[in-house]
Amino acid sequence: MFDLHVHSMYSDGQGSIEEIAKKAKERRIKIIAIADHSCEHPLGLDEGKAKRRREEIEFCQDKYGIRILDAVECGIDAEGRIEKPKHDFELVIASIHECLPAEEYCRRIIKCARNCEFDVLGHYRSSIFNTYSESVEMDLEVMDVLKENDIALEINSAHRAPPPELLDEIGKEVKKLMFSVGSDSHSVSRVGDVGWSLEVLNRKVGRWRCVLDRLAER
Ligand SMILES: [Zn+2]
Ligand SMILES: [Zn+2]
Repeated sequence: MFDLHVHSMYSDGQGSIEEIAKKAKERRIKIIAIADHSCEHPLGLDEGKAKRRREEIEFCQDKYGIRILDAVECGIDAEGRIEKPKHDFELVIASIHECLPAEEYCRRIIKCARNCEFDVLGHYRSSIFNTYSESVEMDLEVMDVLKENDIALEINSAHRAPPPELLDEIGKEVKKLMFSVGSDSHSVSRVGDVGWSLEVLNRKVGRWRCVLDRLAER
């Protein structure tokens, strides 16, 4: 079991790295990614915070015997760019954190996926940040860009995003996509709450390719 999207006190989460690691251990989660917000967020990481956080991550990995990925969640800006502090992150998530009409929402993602380096597209089509009901063609365009650039689609259990029907719309091509699962937890008690994500993947995709396999190849 794993949870690849957890926020800590290093951004807007409530738990310390140690509390999160302890909870993950209790819940028998073998791999977690602590993905705090990046520098565009008022409480996000800067170079110094990322460095201190890394030290705590390494300490807790040894203490609790679980794998903790040093990750970041970057907001995609109006130019389709992401910003991150100078630091060697092990996993980069990129997400839209603004409420946008469908076309603009997709345009930014497509531009970002083509031009920036990241591993996972976070909470795609979260109902909090986009206002469209359906737009299959555009979804398919986004999915194609993810495939072309080897970027994983996150199944986010907090946002319940993407809407599971999207995976039906993609059809057989869904097998060619890579996925990630995340609780997007901001509190310690929700660390590892990825049941919804796994259920959606098992029901809609069956055997699925995980972003962790790609990281292992690096
Ligand atoms: Zn987010
Ligand atoms: Zn998040």
